[in-house]
Amino acid sequence: MNILDELKDAKIVGITGHVRPDGDCVGSTMGLYNFLKVNRPDLDVRIFLQKPGDEFNYIPRIDEIRQETDINLVCDAFVVLDCSSLDRIEPFAELFCNAKKTICLDHHISNKDFADVNLVEPDWSSTSEVLYTTLDEEKIDKDVATCIYTGIIHDTGVFKYSCTSKQTMAIAGKCMEKGIDYSDIIDNSFYAKTYIQNQILGRALLESVLFYDGKCIFSSISREIMDFYGVDGKSLGGIVEQLRLTEGVEVAIFMYEIGEGEYKVSLRSKKIIDVAKIAAKFDGGGHVRAAGFSIKGTVHGIINQIGALIEEQVKQLS
Ligand code: 5GP
Ligand code: MN
Repeated sequence: MNILDELKDAKIVGITGHVRPDGDCVGSTMGLYNFLKVNRPDLDVRIFLQKPGDEFNYIPRIDEIRQETDINLVCDAFVVLDCSSLDRIEPFAELFCNAKKTICLDHHISNKDFADVNLVEPDWSSTSEVLYTTLDEEKIDKDVATCIYTGIIHDTGVFKYSCTSKQTMAIAGKCMEKGIDYSDIIDNSFYAKTYIQNQILGRALLESVLFYDGKCIFSSISREIMDFYGVDGKSLGGIVEQLRLTEGVEVAIFMYEIGEGEYKVSLRSKKIIDVAKIAAKFDGGGHVRAAGFSIKGTVHGIINQIGALIEEQVKQLS
């Protein structure tokens, strides 16, 4: 697919991603936005997204993101990136569906090709990698490369998850050739933590619980604790990754309260358990080694349900 060809006849184009945008979502949507701003200056292009975390403030034109929906707007084309289903285009699904042509670029195995035109590569590291292949290389500038590199490092955990391929590295290399500040991007958007974020990370680790002979670990953060520190879910990124690094652990589970008795659950595995399969049982999704879902219940009730599904997989594998 060539995205300029797909948008050839369009005058108004919308761009969006998934609810609670992560690094790949911000990188891919802003990458396309910056690309179109320069290469289609005639286009009325608008980006709709929930507010990204402050660690992404270096992304060019990030302040042009619109957080309010506009249901009266009819776009000629609407591109959604890094989003596996319509219900995750929150709160812009109606706006997306109003468009005359819808396009989806994604890398989630659970993606059901819900747009008019779909490019889904489940084996690729990130949607940013998918986006890169739809752009004319010589038209990619430093700003676009900054966005794409951001998406790649976030979805590969800085090139270490199993989704990282030779192509991923080649694209990252091409982005480096555009003169991006790659060290700063990695430090400032991936590793940097505020004092408060470190305190909550510490608390989550302190209160974490090992189970199944040390093969699984979980931790949770209640609304009360989030209110105490004055943070939202955006400040809790990275906690599940740290839990996953615990020696001997195969599956890490982290959850935080998003509403009264409702939790956002993140799952990570090292080598054996397919966490996408577990998330799918709760109407969530993701990838084999990183997946998530939202669910109502109590922490222990949710852990018991996940534990049973892990056990089921272990039995099938043995
Ligand atoms: P995280 O745990 O970092 O929120 O998400 C890990 C992966 O699972 C990401 O690829 C993300 O898109 C996916 N994911 C997380 N939560 C959900 C969810 O509620 N529904 C779906 N379909 N995917 C999710
Ligand atoms: Mn992604």
